[in-house]
Amino acid sequence: MGLPGQQQQASNSMATGPWTAPPEAYQSAGGAVFKLFTAQGDMYVYIQGNSVSMTGTMPSGAQQMSMQQTTTVPSSTQPMQPMQPMQPMQQPMQPMQPMQPMQPMTMGNMQMTMNPMEMRMGNMELKMDSATPAPQPAKTRQFCSQCGTKVAPEDRFCSSCGHALS
Ligand SMILES: [Zn+2]
Repeated sequence: MGLPGQQQQASNSMATGPWTAPPEAYQSAGGAVFKLFTAQGDMYVYIQGNSVSMTGTMPSGAQQMSMQQTTTVPSSTQPMQPMQPMQPMQQPMQPMQPMQPMQPMTMGNMQMTMNPMEMRMGNMELKMDSATPAPQPAKTRQFCSQCGTKVAPEDRFCSSCGHALS
């Protein structure tokens, strides 16, 4: 039991003996009643306001409440701990370490480096200079880069959209 605004909580305990059936819950005019089926007979726990009493008779006018079995137990028996103020961070955040430059990868007789992209495998070499991208040879140009219309290699402008073909 706890009163609003009270730090301390009071608790009562009463021995009922083993229960022979799940309890039933009833709502009465002044509170709630739990009917316990014990080895000594039926008991009624009457909760009214902040008082709990055990009676041998059902208060009149009590309406049974539906109950359902749950798998989790609410932690209402634990008194709420007051929130602790946030502790200041013990350690200041470390600034992000800059990315280590990619080390050349070597695998057997294969070597690969990034930036510029370069791959060597035996006596085969594949290189891509990212700083100066190789201009597309005019011979291979077949489509307008703007609209995709097929253009002749000697065309200087796209016949469809007029895009200047460099
Ligand atoms: Zn075009």
